Amino acid sequence: MNDPIEQFDVVVIGAGPAGAVSSSLLNQKGYRILVLEKQHFPRFSIGESLLPQCMTYLEQANMLEAVEASAFQHKNGAAFSRGEEYEYFDFREKFSAGWGTTFQVQRDNFDKILADEAQKQGVQIRYGHSVIACDPFADKRQLSVQSDNGQRYQVHAKFVLDASGFGRVLPKMLNLEQASTLTPRQSIFTHIQDNIDQPEYDRDKILITVHPLHHEVWYWLIPFSNGRASLGVVAPTELLETMLGSPLDNLQELVSQGGKLANILKNAQYDTQVRTLGSYSCNVTSLYGENYALLGNAGEFLDPIFSSGVTIAMTSAGLAASTVHKQLSGEQPDWESEYAEPLKTGIKTFKEFVEGWYDQRFQNVVFSKTKSDDITRMISSILAGYAWDTKNPYVKNPSRLSTLAQLCQDD
Ligand SMILES: Cc1cc2nc3c(=O)[nH]c(=O)nc-3n(C[C@H](O)[C@H](O)[C@H](O)COP(=O)(O)OP(=O)(O)OC[C@H]3O[C@@H](n4cnc5c(N)ncnc54)[C@H](O)[C@@H]3O)c2cc1C
Repeated sequence: MNDPIEQFDVVVIGAGPAGAVSSSLLNQKGYRILVLEKQHFPRFSIGESLLPQCMTYLEQANMLEAVEASAFQHKNGAAFSRGEEYEYFDFREKFSAGWGTTFQVQRDNFDKILADEAQKQGVQIRYGHSVIACDPFADKRQLSVQSDNGQRYQVHAKFVLDASGFGRVLPKMLNLEQASTLTPRQSIFTHIQDNIDQPEYDRDKILITVHPLHHEVWYWLIPFSNGRASLGVVAPTELLETMLGSPLDNLQELVSQGGKLANILKNAQYDTQVRTLGSYSCNVTSLYGENYALLGNAGEFLDPIFSSGVTIAMTSAGLAASTVHKQLSGEQPDWESEYAEPLKTGIKTFKEFVEGWYDQRFQNVVFSKTKSDDITRMISSILAGYAWDTKNPYVKNPSRLSTLAQLCQDD
């Protein structure tokens, strides 16, 4: 006789930041949760620079203490460099209330800490278990799972949260994929022993450098607390396709063109695999459906420029957890107005600023010397992840960025 199918209140696909935080928040409400994770942790993931806004969710999920105990690099802002120009935003001097500092984290360690904390709180996580199908089943969802050792089985969930990142499990299975309106771009990145010896270099900030000749090409330098750093470059796909070297050759060639960045990294040791990732911007036709919702990268992913990915993932986790709680308590939440619309408020803000970065409206604002302290505080808030604070005029109406860019250009 077949084993009975296991029943859960909520099954979460993926144990990254969205999966760990959502499962913890729902576990706090007393639900029976199962997280299915395809890989074994620790595993590499890109996306190391956090934004202060996500500290709120780490607190709510009772994970902040464990993160703080882990000696990650402190972060208090974002610095920008273009030729001889250098500007920085200090997140502690921002318009919105809330955390003004956060961390730059090696994601293999960080994601494992979050998942371990969720497990300690009582969430069941199965590593090496991949979701391979999802069907509606009476008033539930039935997921087919395959484990590393080839075992196949089914589970039933009253609700499924897809936190599978670029795995995009439900968007693929339920035909929800929608192309992003953002231009396809590619990234080359690695970890280095940075050996930076300039005393003026500020390890408490991410450094974004604009290529001296191509305004659409930019580099990130995210220092860690152990003398290492994440280094990456983003460029239009067609530009990178003209580079014929290995990923390491191409990255080093681009860094050598990076003006001051080349000097900052003059002693760097490239001792780790160089990876490439392209066409990552993606969207879906809907962020929710019958007994499921899409979180983090499984929903919409914009662009790496403002390090917004983990913050969007955790915000989606927080919103989805409270809406699932309503639904499983017998209320009938309106997923559009209680989940999709609020989540999209912040995504819309970031999207306007992403578009403004690549068409140079926002680059001109960043490097303008004449912006007022008030404007600087409002921009700082958005860069710190407070893209949902509609008291900020640039969140309430993100298209105000165009007027601001015009003013900065005229000065
Ligand atoms: C080049 C680049 C740079 C970036 N830099 C930053 C940055 O500095 N800061 C920032 O905040 N964000 C950054 N991001 C974005 C960030 O990486 C993501 O937004 C973030 O990791 C999303 O979290 P998540 O929980 O949605 O998914 P993930 O962290 O990707 O987790 C998804 C999990 O689902 C699992 N999974 C996949 N398929 C299945 C399956 N079939 N069954 C079970 N499990 C499955 C995966 O193994 C994975 O562990 C960057 C992105 C890119 C492309």
